[in-house]
Amino acid sequence: AKSSPAQSEFYQATEEVLECLRPLFERAPHYLDHSIIERIVEPERQVMFRVSWLNDAGQVKVNKGYRVQFNSALGPYKGGLRFHPSVTSGTIKFLGFEQIFKNALTGLPIGGGKGGSDFDPKGKSDNEIMRFCQSFMSELYRHIGPNSDVPAGDIGVGTREIGYLFGQYKRLTGRYEGVLTGKGLSWGGSLGRKEATGYGAVYFAQNMLAARNETLSGKTCLVSGAGNVAIYTIEKLYELGAKPISCSDSQGTIHDPEGIDLDLLKQLKEVKRVSLEAYVNERPDAHYISVRDYPENGHAVWHLQGDAAFPSATQNELTEVDARVMLANGVSCVSEGANMPSTTEAVDLFLEAKIDYGPGKAANAGGVATSQLEMAQNSSMERWPMEKVDQKLQQIMSDIYQQCATTAEEFGEPTNLVLGANIAGFRKVADAMIEQGVT
Ligand code: NDP
Repeated sequence: AKSSPAQSEFYQATEEVLECLRPLFERAPHYLDHSIIERIVEPERQVMFRVSWLNDAGQVKVNKGYRVQFNSALGPYKGGLRFHPSVTSGTIKFLGFEQIFKNALTGLPIGGGKGGSDFDPKGKSDNEIMRFCQSFMSELYRHIGPNSDVPAGDIGVGTREIGYLFGQYKRLTGRYEGVLTGKGLSWGGSLGRKEATGYGAVYFAQNMLAARNETLSGKTCLVSGAGNVAIYTIEKLYELGAKPISCSDSQGTIHDPEGIDLDLLKQLKEVKRVSLEAYVNERPDAHYISVRDYPENGHAVWHLQGDAAFPSATQNELTEVDARVMLANGVSCVSEGANMPSTTEAVDLFLEAKIDYGPGKAANAGGVATSQLEMAQNSSMERWPMEKVDQKLQQIMSDIYQQCATTAEEFGEPTNLVLGANIAGFRKVADAMIEQGVT
């Protein structure tokens, strides 16, 4: 079935899940009788659309827009929008597929979906971003709604983009409703949503470490990425007494042996939106490693000396070569903030070595879980304090960890949280699909 190279990431994600489900099907063959596999790998609906917009020079530009509504067995479709030039229909399909199981693991009533565009926000003016978002929403609005499909942010889509998208939705429909999450705090957003994915990935690591009576305190941590997930991973690591010494963007990696300067990082990436290369102007003792100087088939971040790792940029950013070096260097905990950041070969090495390995669909579920808390606040017209959101987030991350660990144990592989996450997530979705009949 691998006839479409554009879908290689989707096949990578489905193969991992199906491989893990083998022991479940041996014990519970009724899932096969209901053709759950055939149904679950097929999106319920996919839309592809043209997004035409005017750049500042008055020229017409054209991009592709996507929304994949993958599975609604547990609730309205929920999943982010990614704006990045690498986006294809296969990227969105892989992300939507992963989202089904992740959302199931949160225990909240949300189905799986994902969307985006091959639009590149880099180097675009604010007005260009706004015109693109307005055009994107001019088609998307007819497919979404607070009880049917609620998009959020992802790579290239943060509060600014959600604002422009929300404004256009409101203009087109005349309704002020919780149709997007990740909104600004003064117009329907939830406290803690911006921080949730990064904080959640750190809480997940905390849970893994606690199982062997360890904490993050005093640990040197390797973080990749320099966006929403990476920044708030670094923030929480500092709060828990750990020392994050790296971050990266698409051009290169920063190694700051004294610990990443969080205020400087936020300034460069949240305010100025520039390359990380500028970091060393302010911190002369830090090193900048350009992608040109990365190890062959690897990424500079993972070749630094550390105890724990938080991949927080993008898919397949941690390879077999990287995993070997990390294991040799004594990294004993990997918690994935990004979606599918480790290649299949790297995952196999982590599982074989029996280190603490938290796969993205479990470790980064704090973002979508907090998005659902935003939906709950919107529909009840409430506004919860940060403490309440953070306390719920911590509880959800601990519950996800427990589910993964007990399910892994149930199937005789107590350290394999990939198996645990996939089986636990799948069972919830599959049981709901069976109870809802052939759809
Ligand atoms: P951002 O756009 O805020 O940041 C992404 C970061 O990763 C940037 O530093 C970017 O570099 C870098 N990056 C993106 N693509 C590539 C690439 N192809 N090669 C190298 N570097 C790259 O996105 P987020 O932080 O929101 O998302 C990061 C990851 O976390 C993604 O995998 C996303 O799916 C996942 N995730 C995000 C959630 C959220 O709540 N935001 C929830 C769950 C998962 P540059 O600055 O140069 O563009």
